[in-house]
Amino acid sequence: MFDLVLILFVFALGACIGSFLNVVVWRLPRGESLVSPPSHCPQCDTALAWYDNVPIFGWLFLRGRCRYCQKPISIRYPLVELVSALLLVFYYLMFFIFQVGPCPPGAPAVNELGFITPHLLVFATDWPIYALYMFLILSLLAASLIDAELFIIPISIPWLMALVGFIAHPLIDAPDLAGSLIVSPSAAALAAGGGVGLLVSLVGWAFGWIPTSFAAGEPALEVDRDLIEAQIKEANAKGQPPPQLPPEYTPAQIRSEMRHEMLFLLPPLLGAFIWTYLTLRPGPLHDGWQSLVSAHWIGGLLGSILGALIGGLCVWLTRILGTLAFGRVAMGLGDVHLMFGVGAVVGAGPAAVAFFIAPFFGILFALYALITRSRRELPYGPYLSAATAFVLLVYCPIAEYLRPGMQVLASLIQGRGLGG
Ligand SMILES: [Zn+2]
Repeated sequence: MFDLVLILFVFALGACIGSFLNVVVWRLPRGESLVSPPSHCPQCDTALAWYDNVPIFGWLFLRGRCRYCQKPISIRYPLVELVSALLLVFYYLMFFIFQVGPCPPGAPAVNELGFITPHLLVFATDWPIYALYMFLILSLLAASLIDAELFIIPISIPWLMALVGFIAHPLIDAPDLAGSLIVSPSAAALAAGGGVGLLVSLVGWAFGWIPTSFAAGEPALEVDRDLIEAQIKEANAKGQPPPQLPPEYTPAQIRSEMRHEMLFLLPPLLGAFIWTYLTLRPGPLHDGWQSLVSAHWIGGLLGSILGALIGGLCVWLTRILGTLAFGRVAMGLGDVHLMFGVGAVVGAGPAAVAFFIAPFFGILFALYALITRSRRELPYGPYLSAATAFVLLVYCPIAEYLRPGMQVLASLIQGRGLGG
């Protein structure tokens, strides 16, 4: 009974947030304010009454037509509201009813028979992680809708995700909370060194010591280029000024631009290595670091930072290696930001796993496009988002499967640090 009331509440909340997402998806990439003016009809500009604005039902009562100008209102608006509501309900059911979701860090989760014993998620105690994850899911929905339509991810969405992760994890993380990111001292050292290195890179980039790659403009990915060429054709047909094609680069020029991006990555990688090495050697620094990161809030904060760094690094290394190999830009920097934000919320392991399974969602979409004979292409953001949404449910067994290998890896790093 309690669950039913909560599910109804979660559904209504999801629909209201979905209504806000419609505003975000339309206004954010167009540089308009998210709060004013209040919602208005996109056709006739008449401000909408509150009863027309009721999520899902407002559209149904109006039968999809504006009350004032009778022009049709896209079914996309109530669909986004419905999808947001259903996502919140779906994850509520999976986390709290079916007990499929995040697992507590470091807990002995495999019983004698080799089965994974689920950590029972209870809404009363585990709602903060549910709220945090649902914030992530709905942010990814907004980013995916914008990316699918305009082939850009507004940078403010992943930055907000990262900021919320950096603030929420120190506040809520505890050793027995599912989804907690409290990390070991050596992982915390990687995060602290890498984070300081990233700040050094950002300062260096802001002062121009580290040059911007593609300073004249990023070359278009394959899919963008088709889109822009279609826009030029359309503008020419209408006699409007056509949009500019992005600058042309030769494969050799594209490869050499990657040096700037490798230079940017050098300080974080060096920082992570140096600080981990220094804090692993026995001595006062080692002991001081151990006691500092034993505070839960510092462990959680550094776990969140490590997640952001690993999430962003996975995409960025793939971009650099792919670009060097093929002589054309492999992945957009928007995807780097996106996985930085995802990692800050879900942590390093889930972010890396999501990155590696995202191509399979690309294959699923390609099959769907083949069956429906649609020629629509999608950028990579929606695949990363879908993979992240999936990983929230399946990471716990994957982590159990990977744990022995990870322990070997960790002891190797620590063994070498102690020996040196
Ligand atoms: Zn109207």
